[in-house]
Amino acid sequence: MLTLAIVVEEISRVSAACSVVFVASYLVSEPLYEFGTEEQKRRFLIPLAKGQKFGAHAMTEPGAGSDVAGIQTTAKKADAEYVINGRKIFITNGERADIFLVFARTSPSPSPEKRHLGITAFLVEKNTPGLQVGKRIETMGLRGSQPVEIILDKVSVPNENILGREGEGAYVALNTYDRGRIGVSAQGVGIAQAAYEAALKYAATRTAFESKLLEFQQIQFKLAEMAVEVHSARLLTYWAASLLDQGKDFVKAASIAKIVATEAAEKAALAAMMIHGAYGVSTDYPVERYLRDVQIIKTYEGTNDIQRLTIAKELVKELR
Ligand SMILES: Cc1cc2nc3c(=O)[nH]c(=O)nc-3n(C[C@H](O)[C@H](O)[C@H](O)COP(=O)(O)OP(=O)(O)OC[C@H]3O[C@@H](n4cnc5c(N)ncnc54)[C@H](O)[C@@H]3O)c2cc1C
Repeated sequence: MLTLAIVVEEISRVSAACSVVFVASYLVSEPLYEFGTEEQKRRFLIPLAKGQKFGAHAMTEPGAGSDVAGIQTTAKKADAEYVINGRKIFITNGERADIFLVFARTSPSPSPEKRHLGITAFLVEKNTPGLQVGKRIETMGLRGSQPVEIILDKVSVPNENILGREGEGAYVALNTYDRGRIGVSAQGVGIAQAAYEAALKYAATRTAFESKLLEFQQIQFKLAEMAVEVHSARLLTYWAASLLDQGKDFVKAASIAKIVATEAAEKAALAAMMIHGAYGVSTDYPVERYLRDVQIIKTYEGTNDIQRLTIAKELVKELR
């Protein structure tokens, strides 16, 4: 995970949209690695790991995002297969994916306290009849990676394509998001670093009132604050990744890292825009893109407020 975080950070420093290739594919390869049978790993994980195939993770629906248990897509059992019907939205890599990890309800939840039970994860191949790529969703940021709608109309999937246990798909998903958000933190670190470097370079070359911007204390303070934020975000991200790599409890650390890194990136992007003056809002310069990209990473894989809920739950667990 530490290696992945460093790779994602470096790529995000240039283009966060390009790093989405890794971050979104991870949402399929990681659960395959954790929950897949040997046969599933051979068929799906190896080509994903070799970069021969793309994966797309299809959980979000028009009516359910943060509330995974609220999905309406169904999968009905019919002998040796399941028939899936529903609609997914905001699916990254959806246009080019070969393997879709689709979440659908196979039975009603047993009780209001166990709403997450009854959801199952299915591996669905691109050319399966009934699986269609719908409209592309134009977003303000990460414009190099526009998500799409996925329509599932009577999609038949053999029983052996269930990933993990039947009815426990939400566990597969949530376990994946806990890990995946370290990759999103790394995107934040990369964007923050890029904004900081752009601001420093600009301040060192731009002249105003016969001085370089860098000579004004107000500009120096902004840059110092950016350095504080970038280094804090990076260390928290590496900390969360290292805890995971060591097999230690990393869930709270991952949520803390996601909040700090994505918010550091937002503050750095804003400060970089201010330091660039009018050029900051010009599309001729990259800094306005950093601010747009940050809005997306604050939202996906659990919004930052959902991270606050996760941290609070972990704190209560520790207290008990
Ligand atoms: C560019 C992009 C790519 C994406 N890629 C994928 C993908 O590949 N696969 C996929 O499945 N999904 C994907 N998503 C979807 C993303 O994960 C969801 O948008 C996200 O989880 C939030 O869900 P929502 O939009 O339905 O917001 P909602 O869940 O409706 O939340 C709306 C607001 O309410 C807040 N909120 C919700 N519940 C609570 C609560 N209990 N307490 C406090 N506040 C709460 C949220 O923090 C948020 O501010 C993508 C989204 C984007 C923008």
